[in-house]
Amino acid sequence: MSSHSISLIPGDGTGPEISATVQKVLEATGVKIAWDVVEAGADVVEKYGTPLPENVLASIRKNKIALKGPLTTPIGTGFRSVNVALRKELDLYACLRPCKSYVGVRSRFKNIDLVVVRENTEDLYAGVEYAPGSKEALEIIGWAKGKIFPDAAISIKPISRTGSLRLMEYAFDYAVKNKRRKVTAVTKANIMKFTDGLFFDVAREVAKRYEGKIEYEERLIDNMCMQLVQKPELYDVIALPNLYGDILSDLCAGLIGGLGIAPGANMGKDIALFEAVHGSAPKYKGLNKVNPTAVLLSSVLMLEHIGEGAASRKLEAAIASVIAEGKDVTYDLKSRPDDPSAVGTKEMGEAIIRKLRE
Ligand code: NAD
Repeated sequence: MSSHSISLIPGDGTGPEISATVQKVLEATGVKIAWDVVEAGADVVEKYGTPLPENVLASIRKNKIALKGPLTTPIGTGFRSVNVALRKELDLYACLRPCKSYVGVRSRFKNIDLVVVRENTEDLYAGVEYAPGSKEALEIIGWAKGKIFPDAAISIKPISRTGSLRLMEYAFDYAVKNKRRKVTAVTKANIMKFTDGLFFDVAREVAKRYEGKIEYEERLIDNMCMQLVQKPELYDVIALPNLYGDILSDLCAGLIGGLGIAPGANMGKDIALFEAVHGSAPKYKGLNKVNPTAVLLSSVLMLEHIGEGAASRKLEAAIASVIAEGKDVTYDLKSRPDDPSAVGTKEMGEAIIRKLRE
């Protein structure tokens, strides 16, 4: 069996302990992986002078596949998000976040099976921001002719036809390939008529090509939040611009029982980077405490993507079985977070490895 070359960014905070467990579990699937371990984030700034060294991008560009642990982003000041920078630099324009209920996970909801497809490169995440009083902010405020207070900071929200088109094409292609029934496009186009309006226009155009195969509908983001907590069974694939997608991903993670089990993939034309929805949970750093499942389920998506479908299904079944038994699981999957029978990141990984070997 030939080996797959995959870049691994272990991440920071709880990232390295999760990544170490995930590497061991993946080894137990029998899939041969040659890891190219490269480091990014706050911990490497001193060494490289940047949180995203060039060798990280070079490794991913070469291997085309990457698995990433979470990376911390300083709030307010300091460097911009490395997670966002990676998506932009590698043009990973579609973020795929399947949200599926697993038996044994405590949640107010059952039988959730949603897929969030989030635009990943533009919108308010474009990083075009101007400080209050800056030349640019004042110029824009001037154009707005009294609509903006003079002391405002400005963030620009670009939504392009190019970005919306490739995102919607990805969402519909995904729906067809994965035998899904419907795509719901979500924006706030009643208020943002040009930006979100354009997103809907493009979505309708793409939907026409799939008429008779995949259903299409539209929702406003506020209404969608309410609908998802009232009747999530009505929805299937949900396609959104970047910021709404970010927020709705966490809502959907909440529906299935939390961030500990919500996986993700960032997809470009020929590069794919797999990572959990959750962040670095820094308060648990080094405690061998957090749930490795979200990164493991991201690896399930990765195995499928690299053509290892059988191993992917076997790994998902092993994870599902450990969760269903509810014994060797981390604190977040116990009925009380202080349940003394909760196991650590490493031990949950070992339980999954035992299942793989059964
Ligand atoms: P977070 O997702 O790191 O953690 C929020 C809470 O969710 C944690 O305190 C914990 O209670 C729970 N949680 C998260 N992951 C868990 C896991 N695997 N198992 C069990 N419980 C888990 O969110 P945050 O605290 O807002 O962000 C921390 C840092 O991570 C920030 O710097 C943020 O920018 C960054 N972040 C990175 C990514 C990424 O790498 N893609 C995504 C989101 C946030």
